[in-house]
Amino acid sequence: MDSPAPSADLPAAPPPTAPPKRTGKPSFMEDMIVTAFGFATSTGVAWLSWWMAAHWDFAIYTWMFWFVVPMGAVGCGFAAATGYWLGARLFNHRPSKWMLFNIVLVSFTTFFAIHHFHYTNDQVMGRPLSSLMSYEDYLVEVTENMTYKSSRGGSNTPGTPLGKLGWGVAALQVIGFSVGGFVVHGMLLGVPYCGRCSKYLSQKKTKVARWKEPEMWRSAFDEVAGLMQQGQLQAAIDKHATLGEDRRTHVNSMLTLLLRKCPDCEARRLVLTARRTNGNQLDVVASASVNTEEPLHMT
Ligand SMILES: [Zn+2]
Repeated sequence: MDSPAPSADLPAAPPPTAPPKRTGKPSFMEDMIVTAFGFATSTGVAWLSWWMAAHWDFAIYTWMFWFVVPMGAVGCGFAAATGYWLGARLFNHRPSKWMLFNIVLVSFTTFFAIHHFHYTNDQVMGRPLSSLMSYEDYLVEVTENMTYKSSRGGSNTPGTPLGKLGWGVAALQVIGFSVGGFVVHGMLLGVPYCGRCSKYLSQKKTKVARWKEPEMWRSAFDEVAGLMQQGQLQAAIDKHATLGEDRRTHVNSMLTLLLRKCPDCEARRLVLTARRTNGNQLDVVASASVNTEEPLHMT
């Protein structure tokens, strides 16, 4: 039920030299450890969000784009999601589907944490908020009296209170905050993983061939990808090393060869990616990849 995405995984069949098999499936404990990291960074971000609101009068968490896109919460969520990334990579845990549930749960917690920091620290006319009302009342108060101001910060113009709509805005903030976690979850599933050793293929080497002409990658890609398809992987690496022009500027096409290796065994993944300029950005136009146990050398 919680099998990792097969695309990035290596074949599970162990060769004769393989170390003893360990479980490659994410366990409940692993999820909890990764969640704990995400929870820690989320609480840190919640504290920072309150601190900025209290000291700089800038509640970044509440910043909306086009009134409905919770960009501030999304930004905070990305900062908080570094914890999931860190925890997963440090302990070589693959996040499961349950992880997504945890991410939403932590996002809810963070919403309440931010308000709790305000509740316990803010004052109204010299009196601490916590002495004036209960936390529940404060939550209702702050949500239903949420306003949209024409400008943030020192502006004194009162905005329009949102009333019950404030709960919708709060929901948008929670959703926005969880986006970062979802993206990190997807990124982690995209990192190739050695199911045999339960490790991310963390050792990597990259080589890039560059050209001025935007279409120069085409024949080069066919040549290198062809060698990869025939299983001549070292030849593909050597061929790629001879390609490209010696330039750093006016680069309009690139062919990148990425070699990843499991830190504990001979599992490798070779990925060839062709990129071409499109306006101001480089678009991926073609890619090829192969998994292998063969020893490969890239200088
Ligand atoms: Zn391995």
